[in-house]
Amino acid sequence: MVISEINITKRKWKEFQELNITKRKWKEFQEHTKADNELQLLKKTIVDGWPKSKNQVHNSIKKYNQYKQNLTIIDDLIFKDKALLVPKTLQKEMIDKIHYCHMGINKCLSLAKESLFWINMSNDIKQKVLNCEICAKYSNSQQPEPLKSHEIPTLPWNKLGCDLFQLGNVRL
Ligand SMILES: [Zn+2]
Repeated sequence: MVISEINITKRKWKEFQELNITKRKWKEFQEHTKADNELQLLKKTIVDGWPKSKNQVHNSIKKYNQYKQNLTIIDDLIFKDKALLVPKTLQKEMIDKIHYCHMGINKCLSLAKESLFWINMSNDIKQKVLNCEICAKYSNSQQPEPLKSHEIPTLPWNKLGCDLFQLGNVRL
């Protein structure tokens, strides 16, 4: 299927606005992808077709073999499904962008997973958040109250409880 690359690129820019990936940054991604030997080999393998057996896949890109059905090239960049593959040289910067608002592990991960991909991305982000004092503070203040459970009565009807609520001026 041939899709107009220009259209896809426009759509991608919209998707990446949340991470502030501008046209300039997009170009930077293209340059860093080009300068990354591993990703160049990966691109070539995607274009030429993957070997039938994993053993025949070049060692440096074996780790991508499990994703081979999901990898495509758009506008000189590699995508895993809708997520842009981040070259090693841009990963730190992307972690900083993701972590910019100190939203804690889960929010950071879900934001990243929507649009970015690299091997070990989740771990790298978790590591960053775990080492961040601000995230730790924030996540502590958002912790739900621990559940306080009652002692379990030994006999039926040993203990009765009821929930109270107010409706208008009437307490029930
Ligand atoms: Zn943080």
